[in-house]
Amino acid sequence: MVLNPVISKLAGKLVVLASSSPRRLEILRNAGMCFEVVPSRFKETLDKRLFKAPQEYAVETAKQKALEVARRMPCDHRKTPDIVIGADTIVTVDGMILEKPRDKQDAYRMLSSLSGKEHSVFTGVAVVLYHEKENEEVDYQIVDFYEETKVKFADLSEDMLWEYIDSGEPMDKAGGYGIQALGGMLVEYVHGDFLNVVGFPLNHFCKQLDIIYNRSPSSSDAQHGSCRGDATPCPVSSTLLRPSTTHTAQPSCNKSGHAAVRHAEETPPLTTSRGQLINEIQGREFEDSEEARKDLQRIIPLIDGFKASKALFTASKFGMFDLLHRRPALDAAQVAHELKTSIKGTERLLEACVSLNLLKTQNSEAPVYENTDLAKRFLLSDAPWSLLGHIAHYNDTVWPLFNHLDSAVQEGNHQHHKVFGKKSGDLFQDTIYSSQEIQLRFMKAMHSITKVTGRAVATAFDLSAFKTACDLGGCTGTMASEFTRAHPGMRVTVFDLPTVIQMSQHFHPLCAEDRVTFVAGDFFKDALPKADLYILARILHDWSDEKVHALLGRIADACTPGCAVLIAETMLDEHSPYATLQSLNMLVNTEGLERTQRQYADLLGKHGFGRESRVHTMNFLDAFIAYKL
Ligand code: SAM
Repeated sequence: MVLNPVISKLAGKLVVLASSSPRRLEILRNAGMCFEVVPSRFKETLDKRLFKAPQEYAVETAKQKALEVARRMPCDHRKTPDIVIGADTIVTVDGMILEKPRDKQDAYRMLSSLSGKEHSVFTGVAVVLYHEKENEEVDYQIVDFYEETKVKFADLSEDMLWEYIDSGEPMDKAGGYGIQALGGMLVEYVHGDFLNVVGFPLNHFCKQLDIIYNRSPSSSDAQHGSCRGDATPCPVSSTLLRPSTTHTAQPSCNKSGHAAVRHAEETPPLTTSRGQLINEIQGREFEDSEEARKDLQRIIPLIDGFKASKALFTASKFGMFDLLHRRPALDAAQVAHELKTSIKGTERLLEACVSLNLLKTQNSEAPVYENTDLAKRFLLSDAPWSLLGHIAHYNDTVWPLFNHLDSAVQEGNHQHHKVFGKKSGDLFQDTIYSSQEIQLRFMKAMHSITKVTGRAVATAFDLSAFKTACDLGGCTGTMASEFTRAHPGMRVTVFDLPTVIQMSQHFHPLCAEDRVTFVAGDFFKDALPKADLYILARILHDWSDEKVHALLGRIADACTPGCAVLIAETMLDEHSPYATLQSLNMLVNTEGLERTQRQYADLLGKHGFGRESRVHTMNFLDAFIAYKL
């Protein structure tokens, strides 16, 4: 691939994208780039009147977004990145700059101003590059540029405008349209880089990388001349941008540290006391250093992490948040009385919840407690986005399983037998569904997490071509409801084991949709309902490659060309703690595993599916679609 030599220059570097735009993420991922996403908190409020040309505004916004993240990451005790990329896309027409619409009326105003006319789409891009200096300071330079693409809209009728606005697509997009989806229908022609209109000028970006890494003998060349003279070297103080690896004592300390530790293990401390040894390894300089302080602040929260989870689980289990919703401003003794718990224990739990930002308190002398907005949104039983079902499953099933993580790592197998007391042939039928209580808890967990994550999956792709879908392992029908809500022409069949379909009636009122129907069966044995689109949400990660092939083979047999499989899973590409810890969860919990995008594409490819694309939904799930060829 032509671009690979450029992108591969970034291998081994910590590249950060200061944007959460799913479209930008997809463009860069499809180009094979590995990066971390740290959305910028820069408020896009620059005064447009101060800029001579609209592209200058886009470039400045991109620069401020990238700089905000570049400055914040080291202060947040995160690793200092090598590169931070910021981008901002705007649409301009008749001298006006159009950004994202505020509401439907604003979208209408924007789209009608584009109707029948040619307009410009500018994406400003800023790349912040770090350079370590010997004196522990860091220089960074900024390379910025923009790309312009001309787009002409057809004449849009009122009906067409409103139909498009009602699809919901315009709301998070500059100029109020997305050219890669339904908005493509409004466009007569495009002159220039299409991806620039989608949100990122990949071609121009690669050319700039080429200038920075391939053509210039030193990075200073990139600062001057070759980057259109825009590059700005910005020396900054070491307190703001101190790299975590430049401490002078550290390298020598590490080297002698390894040697000394090995020596200590091989030869018990006959001549050297433990204290002396540690001093030898670390040295006073390191103990007193800023770096030691930062390292401690990274490691201690990792050791302590489970305490926060358990405090949240316990407060949820006692119904503490529901109680403080019904009766705000209770003190610890009143809460203890209502929950029938000890005052001493309740006081500690309440204070822990305050420190975790789940509760707040007004009066520090005689504190009374109230829910924070975070608790109100996620921790009340009747909140639309209640995660209490998910939390109960984590407390009562996942937590006990994780207690056997050491055995799972030693044996390479799940630990269900230790928690459920049974050897399981089939994960679901022999264990989770062997007791009504555990089954209901599991189904409530699926229901609550899908309520929160489902919509992003259902809206990740343009699915207007599909009239019928089948949600395999669709459990309570919650995901199916999100699909019918997002796609008014679609009917969805939920297919799951008979015991689940029977119990799913507890949840029906919540997804009471006549376009959702339920069919009982075993997807490894029984005929699959006919559909144009097969949804597999959190299914494949439960199973070994062998079982996944068996299931995909059956789906492929039911599909004709043009049909598709839509997978929702946490994909392993980012190395985010969420994804890798979720993968450990799969180890203790199932016979399956989390996989990378490539692995899913390969599995599907073997069954005749291709033309795949992926959207990282920012809701902890990746959506992935592949079509039967
Ligand atoms: N798709 C749902 C979601 O994302 O919320 C539920 C995912 S849950 C991890 C796995 C689902 O697969 C469960 O509802 C389970 O009952 C279902 N399942 C497991 N084995 C099955 C089988 N052999 N046939 C049909 N469904 C099955």
